[in-house]
Amino acid sequence: MKKIAVLTSGGDSPGMNAAVRAVVRTAIYNDIEVYGIYHGYQGLINDDIHQLDLGAVGDTIQRGGTFLYSARCPEFKEESVRQRGIENLRKRGIEGLVVIGGDGSYRGAQRISEECKDIQTIGVPGTIDNDINGTDFTIGFDTALNTIIESVDKIRDTASSHARTFIIEVMGRDCGDLALWAGLSVGAETIILPEVDTDIKEIAERIENGIKRGKKHSIIMVAEGCMSGEECSKELLKYINVDARVSVLGHIQRGGSPSGQDRVLASRLGGYAVELLLDGKTALGVGIRNNALTSTPFEEIFRNNKHEFDYNMFKLTKELSI
Ligand code: ADP
Repeated sequence: MKKIAVLTSGGDSPGMNAAVRAVVRTAIYNDIEVYGIYHGYQGLINDDIHQLDLGAVGDTIQRGGTFLYSARCPEFKEESVRQRGIENLRKRGIEGLVVIGGDGSYRGAQRISEECKDIQTIGVPGTIDNDINGTDFTIGFDTALNTIIESVDKIRDTASSHARTFIIEVMGRDCGDLALWAGLSVGAETIILPEVDTDIKEIAERIENGIKRGKKHSIIMVAEGCMSGEECSKELLKYINVDARVSVLGHIQRGGSPSGQDRVLASRLGGYAVELLLDGKTALGVGIRNNALTSTPFEEIFRNNKHEFDYNMFKLTKELSI
C-alpha cells in the first residue's frame, strides 16, 4: 500500500482533527502518501481530494470541529453515485480509506469495501453520542460530557437561588450515555433515557417529596432520544405544580477544544486505523475496550445495532439521588 485517504463524515465531534492528524502522521511515518477528502462523502464524489503533508495537520490537535469539514450526503446510498467516488480514489492509486464518523458513515465505508475489493476501509468512531458498537468510547463523548457538566454547574447556581426545578435536554440521538454520565456527574435528581422506561408520575412524586424535605432545587436530565425537555415539562405538570424551566443545551455540546481523553483516544485510534490498513485489514471499525485497542467487523457492529448500556451505572445514579 502506497496511498491512503481520510475523511470525516456525519455529525462532527471534538477530536476529529486529532484523529485526522494521527492518520496523516502515522501514514507518513510509514512512507505512505495521505490524501484528505474534504466535505465527507460529498467531497469524495466531487473529487475534492488533496494531498496532506506533515504541516497540513500542524496546530490542529487542540481544535474542535474538523478542518476537513463534514457533510451529510444522502446520494452516497446509491451505487452509481458511490462508483463515481470510488473512481476518484482509483485514479490516484488510493488503496486505503479511513472514515471518521458515526454508524451512518460506517455504512458508506462498508459499501465501498463490498463493491470494491482493491480499496480497504477502516472506520474510526467520531461522534459525541457514544452510540457505536465495538468501542467503550467514541471520540468527542468526553468533551461533550465536560461541556454539559460545565453548563449544568452554572444552571445549578441560578436554580438554587430561585429554588427551581431545571429540565436539561442533552444530545445523544437514541443513546442515553451522555445523559447518564452527565446526570451522574452533576448529581441530577432524575435521568430520563431511551434505554429505561420512564414513570413520570413517580418522578413527579420524588420532586414533590424533595421540595417538602426542603430541597432547594432539582435537576432533571433528559436524553433527546427519549423526549424533549418541553415534553417532559408538560408531562410533569399533569401531576405537580412545579416551576420547571427547560434548558436545551443544543449544539454547544458538539463544539469546543477536545479534552485530554479525546485527544489521546483520537490519536490512538487514528494511528491504529493506519496500522490495520498496512496489515491488509478491511471493513473494520476500531475501538477501545478496557483501555485496549480493538477492531470489529462492520457487519458485527451493525448486527448488534445497540451500544451496550450500563444498567449498573443507572442504578447507582438512582441510589445517589434519593
Ligand atoms: P453519522 O455518520 O454521524 O451516523 P449519518 O447517518 O448522517 O451520520 O451518515 C453520514 C453519511 O454517511 C451520510 O450522509 C451518507 O453519505 C453516508 N451513509 C449513511 N448511510 C449510508 C448507507 N446505508 N449507505 C451508504 N452511505 C451511507
